[in-house]
Amino acid sequence: MDFFPVFMNIRDRDCLVVGGGSVAARKASLLAEAGADVVIVAPQCCTEIREAIDAGRYRWLDRGFDDSDLEGKALVIAATDDEAVNQRVSSLAQARHLPVNVVDNPGLCSFIMPSMIDRSPIQIAISTGGASPVLARMLRTQLEGSIPAAYGKLAALVERYRDQVKAALPTVDERKNFWEEILEGPVAELSFQGKVPEAERALEEALAEAAERAGQRRGEVFLVGAGPGDPDLLTFRALRLMQKADVVVYDRLVSKPIMDMVRRDAEKIYVGKARANHAVPQEGINQILVRLAREGKRVLRLKGGDPFIFGRGGEEISELMENGIDFQVVPGITAAAGCAAYAGIPLTHRDYSQSVTFVTGHRKEDGDQLNWPALAAPQQTVVFYMGLHCVETLCTQLIAHGRAATTPAALVEKGTQPDQKIYIGELGTLPDLVQQQDVKPPTLIIVGEVVEMHKKLQWFQPHPTIR
Ligand code: SAH
Repeated sequence: MDFFPVFMNIRDRDCLVVGGGSVAARKASLLAEAGADVVIVAPQCCTEIREAIDAGRYRWLDRGFDDSDLEGKALVIAATDDEAVNQRVSSLAQARHLPVNVVDNPGLCSFIMPSMIDRSPIQIAISTGGASPVLARMLRTQLEGSIPAAYGKLAALVERYRDQVKAALPTVDERKNFWEEILEGPVAELSFQGKVPEAERALEEALAEAAERAGQRRGEVFLVGAGPGDPDLLTFRALRLMQKADVVVYDRLVSKPIMDMVRRDAEKIYVGKARANHAVPQEGINQILVRLAREGKRVLRLKGGDPFIFGRGGEEISELMENGIDFQVVPGITAAAGCAAYAGIPLTHRDYSQSVTFVTGHRKEDGDQLNWPALAAPQQTVVFYMGLHCVETLCTQLIAHGRAATTPAALVEKGTQPDQKIYIGELGTLPDLVQQQDVKPPTLIIVGEVVEMHKKLQWFQPHPTIR
């Protein structure tokens, strides 16, 4: 984060604008909208500022900038076309720890002004950190279109009931849920239609009902697949539930950009698993889910990939079921699908591979229970999850059961993520490749002729392929 975003209260405070042109006029008018007492210092002013001065809305010092102008000011904006003056305003203001903005010169600013959508009391500020004001404006246009003007009215209505709701619903979670229902339901709809008294009545009724139910809410669990790492691969439903949860129980495979999209004030519980080093054993995770749901919480159980593919999702929900807890399951893009797509390796192909098998390298007991003759059969793709630590065994066994040592094989490390790496070899060379290149988990192993297609179909290449 390059800048710390804040909304500043400047009501009835003296704010200085140095300059009298059209840019100064725009800034002055924003300051005035926020209730500031605007002081303009400039030898000449444009018509717009002139009119505001004549109407008594701004004070005007009709001369050049003087150091003493900074006295007693809450905020300073320099918008002259004289670089030296702007520079002087900036350094004097900064010496006094006064927030200062010099228009179009981020280097001289102690704060920058965002692009803004005003639905007071709702305000949305967009900044690109000075990188591209045009991009900020484009984003603003997009948001303007998707946020009805009536949101301001709705926020004002909600504000009037805050204290009453606080008194009626004792816990934070209850209040959060109440407001979510209000803001997504008929109250919002009525307010958008301008039917404010009806909206108020509906809100009061909903509050009476919620107060009656207080303390008895049933918790539930959302078992959600987060996909292989690229946040763009989340499903709409996953995103919706991520925004709704009171608490998130997540593991190691859930990428940081995805965690950043989880509702900010949700409690976050890490139960991450590295192979054979379970931070919280599975039984413990099951119990955490049951306990949290019993407390009436909406629990997001967020897992890498798909929860039902080597995700132990089945075990978690059977425990929930036995305990009579409501749940829903949201599929995610499994690592094989995500990695294959981003590596340009189609898992099946009319000519080379008529089936694909997903296999885990990590088994319950360490015994060798895989059906090697079946996995070694030709004309198929075999994808190994959690296979990195035992790549040697996997390759040796496939070869021993008849798959050619020259069968192409790929390692996809951190598939779909900005640091994705791809290593291509053959069954006979793969274990050495892992060693030499120090390949790290999470890595997926793809075995079969389809791996050849990577040469032609690769498109997502943050790092060049290693062979
Ligand atoms: N439920 C998950 C799989 C969990 S098992 C899913 O459906 O994808 C964990 C294994 O998945 C890792 O050992 C690795 O083999 C694979 N994996 C998960 N995410 C991956 C990624 N982004 N890149 C490569 N492999 C990944």
